[in-house]
Amino acid sequence: MDIEFVRSRFIKHFDGKTGNIYASPGRINLIGEHTDYNGGFVFPGAVDKGIMAEMRPNGTESTIRAYSIDLKDRVDFDFHDGQGPRASWARYIYGIALEMEKLGVPVKGFNIAFAGDVPLGAGMSSSAAMESCFACGLNDLFGDNKVSKWDMVLAGQATEHNYCGVNCGIMDQFASVFGQAGKLMRLDCRSREFEYFPFNPKGYKLVLLNSCVKHELAGSPYNDRRNSCENVVKHIAAKHPEGTFETLRDCTWEQLEEVRAEVGEEDYKRAHFVLGEKDRVLAVCDALVAGDYETVGKKMYETHDGLSKEYEVSCEELDFLNDIAKECGVTGSRIMGGGFGGCTINLVKDDLYDSFIATAKEKYAAKYGKEPKVYDVIISDGSRKIC
Ligand code: ADP
Ligand code: MG
Repeated sequence: MDIEFVRSRFIKHFDGKTGNIYASPGRINLIGEHTDYNGGFVFPGAVDKGIMAEMRPNGTESTIRAYSIDLKDRVDFDFHDGQGPRASWARYIYGIALEMEKLGVPVKGFNIAFAGDVPLGAGMSSSAAMESCFACGLNDLFGDNKVSKWDMVLAGQATEHNYCGVNCGIMDQFASVFGQAGKLMRLDCRSREFEYFPFNPKGYKLVLLNSCVKHELAGSPYNDRRNSCENVVKHIAAKHPEGTFETLRDCTWEQLEEVRAEVGEEDYKRAHFVLGEKDRVLAVCDALVAGDYETVGKKMYETHDGLSKEYEVSCEELDFLNDIAKECGVTGSRIMGGGFGGCTINLVKDDLYDSFIATAKEKYAAKYGKEPKVYDVIISDGSRKIC
């Protein structure tokens, strides 16, 4: 993203003065899927695509003048009017202003122009990039940077919950705020403890292939999966009154086998995936410390198989992209995100990259009439002030 580009628009659309520039990234999740609501681990990293905003107090009590450079849309609103703006992009600014205020930041009126290069609908969380960028800016402009990183993560999440109608977890905002170049983060969704792990895949590239489909399924597959997991926990807890079982995180493989017959094959399979996924995240951490990217890739394929066959959240198109990766000898490939569409994330040796991308485009287009979109990603720094 280009600082001069954002600055020129900020100057043009407001009073000619310059402000401060802040940037915040989108994210990938290397492994650890459907684990958050099961008390498990996720393993995200910030990417080299994000949101950049120029911001400057405008001397008013509570008037926000906002310009979306990409949408060429200007919205002015009073963030204390109890309603906020209607434009969905501006609601992120509105929400963050109120949530930062709740954290004790004396937010006043400001001007803001912003742009981004996080592809929409690809699962890289452009919304979290916006929230953490604006939070970082308000914390700096009005709050003496006293609000902690974790509180900014929670302000972003609360913005989604309270002003955008999205009931999300904390991974996206966490990754955007805490990201570091060349590092992935293992976040324990139960305790919120986290640890950085080196990610320097020399000789490999990380690339997302967007299937460009999003299947809206009848019923509520997400809630069904949650219910299955909770049901297994309930049965295990009933068998073990001596223990505390809140989520599948508390359950062992042996305990899962004990309840297999009573919970039925479907719930068993769902829980089997979740326990496996926890082990796979831990195995990937060990492999990264050892610099063993072949094992990382193997675990990514195992996760894909689990998501496809046990958790059953894949779709034909994603399985097709995964099969192509395997045929091309790609080191690792899996669905990224909740499933039913979106991207695969692929760990590819440099010398295979060109032929893999060409083959994936050709075969996918031949079958589905459109090419997958290709996004190279580099693991990069989290929210920051640029100047
Ligand atoms: P994602 O998975 O990328 O977070 P969301 O639906 O949660 O997708 O958020 C996307 C929304 O964020 C868009 O509809 C838009 O309102 C806002 N948004 C994202 N990037 C930009 C941008 N560059 N400019 C303006 N608004 C953006
Ligand atoms: Mg989002």
